[in-house]
Amino acid sequence: MDSQELKVYGAEWCSYCRALIKKLELKGVKFKYIDVDQSENRRQMNELTDGNETIPVLTRGEEYKVNPNDAEIEAMINGVKSKGVKMANGVENEDIKPCIMIGAGPANLAAAVYTTREDIDTILLEKGVVGGLAAITDIIDNYPGFEEGIEGPKLAEKLEKQAERFGAEIEFAEVSGLTRREDGMIKIDTTDGEMLARTVLIGTGSDHKKLGLPSETKYYGRGIHYCATCDGAFYRDKKLVVVGGGNSSAQEALFLTRFASHIDILIRKDQWKASDVLVEEIEKHPKITVHFNTTVEEFIGGEVDGMDKVVGAKIVKNGKQETIDADGAFIFIGLLPNTDFLKNSDVKLDDTGFVIGDEMLRTSVPGVFVAGDVRSGSTAQIASAVGEGAVAALRIREYLESR
Ligand SMILES: Cc1cc2nc3c(=O)[nH]c(=O)nc-3n(C[C@H](O)[C@H](O)[C@H](O)COP(=O)(O)OP(=O)(O)OC[C@H]3O[C@@H](n4cnc5c(N)ncnc54)[C@H](O)[C@@H]3O)c2cc1C
Repeated sequence: MDSQELKVYGAEWCSYCRALIKKLELKGVKFKYIDVDQSENRRQMNELTDGNETIPVLTRGEEYKVNPNDAEIEAMINGVKSKGVKMANGVENEDIKPCIMIGAGPANLAAAVYTTREDIDTILLEKGVVGGLAAITDIIDNYPGFEEGIEGPKLAEKLEKQAERFGAEIEFAEVSGLTRREDGMIKIDTTDGEMLARTVLIGTGSDHKKLGLPSETKYYGRGIHYCATCDGAFYRDKKLVVVGGGNSSAQEALFLTRFASHIDILIRKDQWKASDVLVEEIEKHPKITVHFNTTVEEFIGGEVDGMDKVVGAKIVKNGKQETIDADGAFIFIGLLPNTDFLKNSDVKLDDTGFVIGDEMLRTSVPGVFVAGDVRSGSTAQIASAVGEGAVAALRIREYLESR
């Protein structure tokens, strides 16, 4: 057996695992897939990764990376036989794309349906999971057209297939910079090289906010999680803490009741900021206790099956310090815009880092448009992200026709 063989520890229900596998396949890299739904495999993964419970895990020998980003994947596969990267890196011969979309969430997948139907060649660059946040959400109940609701991964797959039917190309790469050249072309820096485009649509959405506690970083994957659909199934008959008082927290806590024996929801304020329907469901759920006026001071670690993992949390409730037992904690306290790659660009951001767009969804840089959750003032819903994608695509067509 090759001790340097690449291995992916994952599960069939994990969207990030599917994305990692797709990336490795596109790179033509050989790897072995190990299903952690089988308890022996999960034990093997825990041992190799010092008790980590977040998937996917990419391993090579004793080295491992939990949910690796593009740079970490490259570092790990370095030396493993590869057929090369399928990437449209056309700067040397000035291969200018009519439209590049950054992110492949609902906003840009919808936009790509419109641009490609109008014969505008479109490439979407995605750093994580195709379908964005929708792909890692359990059930979406309020997206029009699905009277019974639809599973997030299923909606993501439908959006992807529809965009691809008209010729949209999805490539896996992380965008790290954007500059408008003097000739009006937009240069995009990616983890796989540079690309040029006449128009760009920013649809990079947002990522989970962190509490900022040292123990939160220390126990990430070993009791601290940010995605219930990804990691919830590891907590069958266990006690969990959910932090946050908004819609995401309520929705995800209800999803986690499928696995956990009990859930304590910790809310900083004295009331919910979630919709009445969700709050009613939470209130009558026998497995859930809600604690208002409660903050987490630190998570407590301890030995579990020979590994250092979360065993509880130090909390402050109504001004009094308490400890609470928990096998894990899921944190849903809001979202931060994915706009780091715009820091050195001329694209204007608001005070909280979201992209400013006008009513035509134009940004401050000609040829660069914005849609979805990353836009300043967005409603952070799939239906509105999809609608903005359609509007932006029509504006992109007008922009291209006017040049
Ligand atoms: C827990 C939870 C539950 C939700 N439930 C609902 C619901 O029931 N109904 C509803 O309507 N909405 C719901 N939402 C909100 C909904 O998921 C979002 O509004 C929607 O996904 C926004 O789409 P988007 O395309 O703007 O962004 P996203 O879905 O965030 O997609 C952005 C994509 O861009 C990629 N990206 C980011 N940066 C880069 C980069 N530098 N380079 C390349 N790619 C990049 C990301 O990986 C991501 O795939 C929920 C959200 C959460 C977190």
